[in-house]
Amino acid sequence: MKNKKFNINKLVRANIAQLKPYSSARNEFLELNKEMIYLDANENPFDNSLNRYPDPFQFKLKSKLSVLKNIPLDNILLGNGSDEVLDLIFRAFCEPRLDQIITMPPTYGMYKVLARTNDIEIVEILLTQEFQIDTNEILKNIAKNTKLIFICSPNNPTGNLMDRKAIKKILKNFEGLIVIDEAYIDFSDSESWAREIINYQNLIVIQTLSKAYGLAGIRLGICYANRKIIEVLNKIKAPYNVNQLSQDMAIEVLSKNKELSKQIVDCNLNKQKLKNVLKQINYIKKIYPSDANFILIKVDNARKRYNQLLENNIVVRNRMDEPLCANCLRITIGTQNEVEKLIRTLKKLDS
Ligand SMILES: *Cc1c(COP(=O)(O)O)cnc(C)c1O
Repeated sequence: MKNKKFNINKLVRANIAQLKPYSSARNEFLELNKEMIYLDANENPFDNSLNRYPDPFQFKLKSKLSVLKNIPLDNILLGNGSDEVLDLIFRAFCEPRLDQIITMPPTYGMYKVLARTNDIEIVEILLTQEFQIDTNEILKNIAKNTKLIFICSPNNPTGNLMDRKAIKKILKNFEGLIVIDEAYIDFSDSESWAREIINYQNLIVIQTLSKAYGLAGIRLGICYANRKIIEVLNKIKAPYNVNQLSQDMAIEVLSKNKELSKQIVDCNLNKQKLKNVLKQINYIKKIYPSDANFILIKVDNARKRYNQLLENNIVVRNRMDEPLCANCLRITIGTQNEVEKLIRTLKKLDS
């Protein structure tokens, strides 16, 4: 949707629109670069580097991201993993028992769990056989109470990017919010949708430090969106939702861009190497194209192969119960050593 038609008040839940947010001590007074005596938050005054509450708006970390991604600070919200960001979006915009969302299975399981938790109806429109968006079917199923459409690109568990034209078409024809989950975007050569928030006011792009950035343990999710959307989410988030250790660690890792790009190159090399071997194995029926750090494969008997790998101390993800994923296993790309062990085991099972 282009700028003029966008009306945040039509989307946000009435109780949230009226909500006066809790104002924390650090919220009301945070003056950077100034030696103040802080007697406002009932903290322990003895310095151990973590005795103070963290910055509720993560100014330093956001500034770093803002420069790296070339996106204004006011268009960024950070959460305790993308899972928190997704939860905030549900709670801000979806009225329990009245609103609905659209997802495109097979896809990330959290959209459904969050919808169920918040008592929101889910309309599931399967991807096509090629795991692409069924645009016409989506457009047909948009209803008055459709608040959110989730697009995961590259998609989990299939690994592929979603067609840009299909996404554009939905962006232009839907008046609710479109959430593009880009957890794996850093592994792909394709450009992020994040900068498109300038052109589409109803677009929310979600990224995470859990995958390519190697920081799943600190729980840091990133949301890029129009300022009005960010303001609503800021209103309902817990005041200190990103802890000090996570903020510090994220700043440190974001400053080491070179090491990260090397890891991504290595990961993609290992992926290619694994792919070449998978092609030669008889019980592997299909290898799906991947722009992420995992590969989805179809085998002769997923349960059997999953268990055989397990007996060899290798854990993959069995996705055979997902729609369009009969007999499919999802394999994460490990280190060179791990990939070599996996290859030896897969070959052993073949004979
Ligand atoms: C791994 C993953 C995430 C990351 O979630 P975090 O809470 O940030 O760790 C988000 N979306 C998808 C599709 C994922 O696969």
